[in-house]
Amino acid sequence: MMGSRQVAQGALFYEFSIEAFVPQDHLMRGIDRFLDLTDVRPLLAPFYSSHGRPSIDPELMIRMLLLGYCMGIRSERRLCEEVHVNLAYRWFCRLDLADAVPDHSTFSKNRHGRFRESGLFRHLFETVLQRCIDEGLVGGHSFGVDASLIPANANQTRGIESKEGLPPELSARVIDEYLETLDDAAFGASTKVIPKYISPADPAARWTGADGGAAFFAYSTNYMVDLDNAVIVDVEPSVPIRTAEAFAARRMIDRITDRFDMTPDKLVGDTGYGSAEMLGWLVEERGIAPHIPVWDKSKRTDGTFSREDFIYDTATDSYTCPSGKRLQTYRRNFSKPRKANGGKDGFIRYRASKHDCDACPLKPQCCPKDNGRRLMRSVHEASRDVARDIRKTDAYVTSFIQRRKVEMLFAHLKRYIGIATMRLRGPKGAYEQFQLAATAQNLRKLAKLVPEASPA
Ligand code: SF4
Repeated sequence: MMGSRQVAQGALFYEFSIEAFVPQDHLMRGIDRFLDLTDVRPLLAPFYSSHGRPSIDPELMIRMLLLGYCMGIRSERRLCEEVHVNLAYRWFCRLDLADAVPDHSTFSKNRHGRFRESGLFRHLFETVLQRCIDEGLVGGHSFGVDASLIPANANQTRGIESKEGLPPELSARVIDEYLETLDDAAFGASTKVIPKYISPADPAARWTGADGGAAFFAYSTNYMVDLDNAVIVDVEPSVPIRTAEAFAARRMIDRITDRFDMTPDKLVGDTGYGSAEMLGWLVEERGIAPHIPVWDKSKRTDGTFSREDFIYDTATDSYTCPSGKRLQTYRRNFSKPRKANGGKDGFIRYRASKHDCDACPLKPQCCPKDNGRRLMRSVHEASRDVARDIRKTDAYVTSFIQRRKVEMLFAHLKRYIGIATMRLRGPKGAYEQFQLAATAQNLRKLAKLVPEASPA
């Protein structure tokens, strides 16, 4: 039998609870269990005027921002619309049915002002990370590091040639942010190479062809990840250049040590972190085992002996060649033995005696065009040897597999958090976006891995 026609009839009174309409297994319910915003108001209080109209509740704006990142809603306009119509989102934002949702323009005003000045987003990230630590999700022994390219929010076809300089009509904020990062080793000071093009919309973004395809303007987001449960323990933006990313890794390790008194026993990374300087810093200064492939260009491909064919002796600080002769830094016999320190490039030079090489039958395989064989050794070669030795172990194989956890986080960032391209501009926009995204990823991790306590 056909049912009677349903016609909506507004009731005069409703007894309604949003709480009852949000499913128990809704993601935002899980996230809400771990979101503690009690510090937000005191932190922001100095940035509000004591006069004038009361502002929108900052906690509401933070909840909305985090909601947007957790659910991959990129546009603030759409976020406001979604909160307006979605009961679960209203519940998460502590809004009742009749409460007004803030206008989307409110976000950018606060974002460029008090939110950035107060360091609120870093505070949020660290609060959530502390919760991950308290819940036992962070082991603190094995960290993985990696960087991922994020295309800038700029017209990729409208770069101007660097030699022409920045056009005078650029906004003061864009220029100020660009100038502020020129001396930062994660940005302008990472390389002396001047990029071919510069973006007038976001001059701090770097023109790069690092992913092998056509070049574009981009930033890198750098993650330091605890490998036990793939919790992000720090995040840092940089330009997409190896030296900048390696510097960002060092900055993150130092910050974690300072803020959380945690230094990993091992760091897992790709060749981008395998420079002599980086390995030296890890091994010699921080005592961290580098599970990182060594960035080594000493291998020869023309059939002549490579450096690995020579044996280094620490006691005499010299190499022995395949013919049994010694290569030394100093050939004179000083009354007081001298220790080589390396040149400005960080390499110590060793050379064989011309007399030995001229008489050597192996010379065509060793130095056919030179008077004698020369070798270069990094001042951090001992640290590089530590990394080489680790690479031969089973633990390295495990680390190599664990590295995928970091790559998975980047895939998640782009697919579910919606950061496949930048939405904000400038280094501060990159800081904000990457920190909020990492905070959202850690909150989702908490919701997924920490079961809700059953009622007593
Ligand atoms: S050419 Fe010189 S350095 Fe090379 S194997 Fe012969 S003696 Fe040694």
